[in-house]
Amino acid sequence: ESIGLQNFKIAKDFIIEVINRLSKDERFERGDSRVGVVQYSHGNTQELVAMGDVNITNIRDLKEAVKKLNWIAGGTYTGEALQFTKEKLLARFASDKRVAIVITDGRSDTLRDLTPLSSLCEINTQVVSLGIGDIFRAPPNSEQLGVIACEGTSYRPGLSVQRDNYAELNFLYAVNFTGPADITLLVDSSTSVGSQNFELTKKFVKRQVERFLTAHMPSEDSVRVSVVQYSGKNQQILEARFLQNYTVIAKAIDDMEFLNDATDVNAALRYVTNLYRQSSRTGANKRVLILSDGNSQGITRNDIEKAVQAAQREGITIYVLAIGSQVHESNLQALVTGKTKEQNVAYEANHLFRMPDYKSLLQVIWIC
Ligand SMILES: [Mg+2]
Repeated sequence: ESIGLQNFKIAKDFIIEVINRLSKDERFERGDSRVGVVQYSHGNTQELVAMGDVNITNIRDLKEAVKKLNWIAGGTYTGEALQFTKEKLLARFASDKRVAIVITDGRSDTLRDLTPLSSLCEINTQVVSLGIGDIFRAPPNSEQLGVIACEGTSYRPGLSVQRDNYAELNFLYAVNFTGPADITLLVDSSTSVGSQNFELTKKFVKRQVERFLTAHMPSEDSVRVSVVQYSGKNQQILEARFLQNYTVIAKAIDDMEFLNDATDVNAALRYVTNLYRQSSRTGANKRVLILSDGNSQGITRNDIEKAVQAAQREGITIYVLAIGSQVHESNLQALVTGKTKEQNVAYEANHLFRMPDYKSLLQVIWIC
């Protein structure tokens, strides 16, 4: 009831968009990956639509079924719904790589529904609780969201995210890796960014660093993060070199000063490649997230491809976060793929992320 009919429709569109994004990466048609959707309200109202249902043989059927879900508009029994999801949906999924996204205002009626909110944690599922303010403009209940996302348990930590309203249900990206990882955030500090946007970038980078450092079991102790800012040809600053202590990295990011000069993304990438050559661990996933609009002075697409290929030879995977509407499209593609002619749409969709502006950066949700 508390989310409202209009928001229920937005939530369905969001779910369909998530399924679309996943379809680019996951092999649903071959049955390697599966997806399902549960809607719930008060007690015993749960409805499940999932691949493997009698009338759902492919992704298109599933999306149709999601569209047809009717708003239940009752009370909020989140614990019972999670229990239902565990027994009826997740039990069907044989893979032990499970992700659950729980969309709620985080106001479960815990007086009437005594089922624990943490039931998905016990079966080694990464839980993202997406808390969204209700139609009465009450903010989501962060305490419940935390419990849903397995905070304070010995289970795999999830992620708890809050949004003021359904209109902000925007950017959900996945960066998948298992095992040790050395991640670098390569931050555009050129004039075209502007000093205010640079401050927004710093906030975003801090959030991402925290996210990367906490996405895996603390006991694995295996993710290290570097932060490099760049501007012109000889302007790269190593702010943090493969560290694990969030407080130390956050302080370095806070202290970053806007370079406010030319843009040479190529030189920046070569600098980072060298950093990995010197300081990365053997066997670690090497990931670089480049913030860039693709514009780079005096550099051809061919130059970029060479720098990207050098990075790839070092075992580095490049992700690009393209910000703004004035982006250099072919340079961005070159940055992501490093290929001259070949186009790989699926690869690009999973490595090139777009933001309309810097403000939107703070809405990004990453699942790692
Ligand atoms: Mg620039």
